[in-house]
Amino acid sequence: MQTNLADWIKDTPEGREADAILRKCVHCGFCLATCPTYSLLGDELDSPRGRIYLMKQAFEGGPVTVRTQVHLDRCLTCRACETTCPSGVNYGRLVDIGRGVVEKKVPRPAGEAAWRRLLRFAFLSGPLFGFGVALGRVFRPLLPASLARQVPPKRAAGTWPAPRHARRMLVLDGCVQPTLAPDINAATARVLDRLGISLVSAPGAGCCGAIEHHLNAQDAALDRIRRQIDAWWPLVEAGAEAIVITASGCGTMVQDYAHLLAGDAAYAKKAERITALAKDVGQVVAAERAALAGILGTLAPVAEPIAYHAPCSLQHGLKQKGIVESVLREAGFTLAPVPDAHLCCGSAGTYSLLQPELSGRLLAAKVAALESGRPAELCTSNIGCLLHIESGASKPMSHWIELLDRRLAQAKAAA
Ligand code: SF4
Ligand code: SF4
Repeated sequence: MQTNLADWIKDTPEGREADAILRKCVHCGFCLATCPTYSLLGDELDSPRGRIYLMKQAFEGGPVTVRTQVHLDRCLTCRACETTCPSGVNYGRLVDIGRGVVEKKVPRPAGEAAWRRLLRFAFLSGPLFGFGVALGRVFRPLLPASLARQVPPKRAAGTWPAPRHARRMLVLDGCVQPTLAPDINAATARVLDRLGISLVSAPGAGCCGAIEHHLNAQDAALDRIRRQIDAWWPLVEAGAEAIVITASGCGTMVQDYAHLLAGDAAYAKKAERITALAKDVGQVVAAERAALAGILGTLAPVAEPIAYHAPCSLQHGLKQKGIVESVLREAGFTLAPVPDAHLCCGSAGTYSLLQPELSGRLLAAKVAALESGRPAELCTSNIGCLLHIESGASKPMSHWIELLDRRLAQAKAAA
């Protein structure tokens, strides 16, 4: 694609990056076939290629309007288009730059801006968020069904083993996960403990920065990333082998730390090290598969099939397709087939709250696909997908590491 970026952006780091990405696009349109919003709306401007044109227009100094913003807002940032693109167009990075540009040029209506600020505040408020969720659970029976479905049931964390192994790994705590699903990281700690690794949490660490990043508050996201690095750094220097991430959405964010802070002299090297250490929990367990097989021994396979939802952040963002599935199969689970497994469930960070209509349609399709193979239960790798799918599913929903935790507990009981 020929480009001619406007003077105000062409010599900036974002401008140079956007230009290189745009030039790779050959307008072939292959990406349209796997774009969820294009398949729902059938409008070229709600496709990757259409959005690329809109962003090119913005970077070249053409008109940037509310219409531009609407079409970029509707994008899930699922990055299915990246997986499909034969030219290697880094759409995810391009849309980050494009949204930042459009956000500065098109002020949002007061109500919409306030809703976005409220979401940032609510998700990042820690104890206040916990109080709100507790209140929601108390009044759940009085809420309309559509709202009650959004309030997740309480999940017991269970025990977190005390550190006892020479091998140590850090865990990413996340912002809402400790309140909504404390069982996920606790189950991870139990599984890794059985595999000879102690999982520890760094005081002062929390959100990876994705919430602010999703809501186009780029500077606030960078500040949060720097604080996260500061919190982890003493334990990294003390020899932590890896940073284990149980929410693949957060994994894609931490994977980008090195890139996002490349121009920050004080943090660039540290950010590179953090990105290199970050691992999805699937990768971590897969690397220990020999020890896992030894523990599971001759335990009988699980009788009923399960269905696994591979989050977009895992398959298209982190490019780790198939790892979790292979670990689950080796652990004795049978995976029910899931049609259109490449498609987004509609959770996509804050998307389900900002685009409820489109998100609801994607959720209905995803639940139908997951339950089509008659599984006994469902599982995934990301807290956002988990809660979103759970709100519409008729089967129990968990993080896959919880299923493995249960399996290891069975093996222990059978030993
Ligand atoms: S598949 Fe890639 S090269 Fe083709 S239109 Fe889409 S982004 Fe451009
Ligand atoms: S990121 Fe997803 S929703 Fe956005 S253009 Fe690409 S395929 Fe479509």
